[in-house]
This record gives sequence, structure tokens and C-alpha cells, in this order.
Amino acid sequence: MARYTDAVCRLCRRQGEKLFLKGTKCTTEKCPANKRAYAPGQHGESRNRRRKISNYGLQLREKQKVKRIYGVLEKQFRRYFKIASKAKGITGRVLLQLLERRLDNVIFRAGIGISRSQARQIVRHNFIFVNSKRVNIPSFLVDKDDLVQVKAKEKALNKIKDNLELSKDRAVPSWIEFKPVDFSAKVLRLPEKDDIGQTIQEQLIVELYSK
Ligand code: SF4
Repeated sequence: MARYTDAVCRLCRRQGEKLFLKGTKCTTEKCPANKRAYAPGQHGESRNRRRKISNYGLQLREKQKVKRIYGVLEKQFRRYFKIASKAKGITGRVLLQLLERRLDNVIFRAGIGISRSQARQIVRHNFIFVNSKRVNIPSFLVDKDDLVQVKAKEKALNKIKDNLELSKDRAVPSWIEFKPVDFSAKVLRLPEKDDIGQTIQEQLIVELYSK
């Protein structure tokens, strides 16, 4: 699967806000989005000063932001939008719910991975079981009442324990019940927009794709 391999901090700087792509590392003083709060590249600083952004630009920026937060590329993101637009409910909300239901996101939310990209690796490395079946697809969508468990050898479990320690200040959202004792996460309900904890204007994305 294609994925973004450049320095992720550039994405935050391009976006003009912290997207927390490195998880716990993002709360340190070294965060480049704090130190250099302008777009990356040779003319980033001067371009930022001149720019007046159009409505289309705002819509595009919001879409890029959400794609970057969840580490999803355009083709897959469009697929999520298509599913959301055909589903019952408000399209933008359903879109966000689909992204939150991704297995890599659940692993990140539970604190098993310190960032979504690390969570994706954990899933790929065959450590995750959903309802007792091994699942190594990061985009797998969890459902209400699903039980997500980590099963791994001691070395990997120790790494996950370290991750949990590093993530201890990040609250697990209320739609997931995480039990550190057996590394299990139960999906109590489907996530809502308020569970995301980041400001997202999903309506702008709907407007963009509805043109
Ligand atoms: Fe973004 Fe985190 Fe890098 Fe800061 S440290 S720029 S929040 S990815």
C-alpha cells in the first residue's frame, strides 16, 4: 500500500496547526510546529504572510488535514466519503466515524501505539486479534461490542507496556473500554464527533466533494 514517507512534521507546518502525528512526541518543546509556525520550504515564511485563502482552499485544507491525521491517502479517503454519502445520517459525521473505527486508530486510542503510524505497524505485525481472530489490516473497521486484543511474545509486549506508559496522560475515549491487565479493548459504542478531541470542520469536506 502506498504511504507518505517524508518527514511528518512538515505536514503540520504545511497545515498551519499541530496534527499530533508523532503521538506523545508532539507534546515536547521540540515540536517544529511551535518553533517554526510557517509553511516548510524556502519561501514558507513569506508565503504565509501574503496568503489570503479562498473558500475552496479552506475546503481543500480541511480534507488534507483529516487525511493526514488518520494517515489515509486520497483514493481510500474518497472511498470512505462514498460509503458515508450512501449511509444513513449526516455524511460528514459518518465519514469521521468510519475513520475513527479503523483498527489502527483503535490501537492508537487505547494507548497500545503512541501514534497512528506506530499503531499501524503493530497491526501489520500480526499482534492484534479481533473477536479471537487475527486481523492484520489497519483499515479493518471495528463494530460495537468487538473485542480487540493484543497477543504477542514477551519482547513485543514489553514494548507495548512502554507505549502504554508513554500514553498514560492521553485519555482513552469513552467509546472504548481498555483493560491494561490483558491488553484488551472493548468497543462499547460507535464513536461520535465529540470523541475525536480535535477540531474538524467536516462540512467543508462534504462541500468539496459535492461540487
Ligand atoms: Fe506535528 Fe507532532 Fe511534528 Fe509537532 S512534533 S510538528 S505536532 S508531528
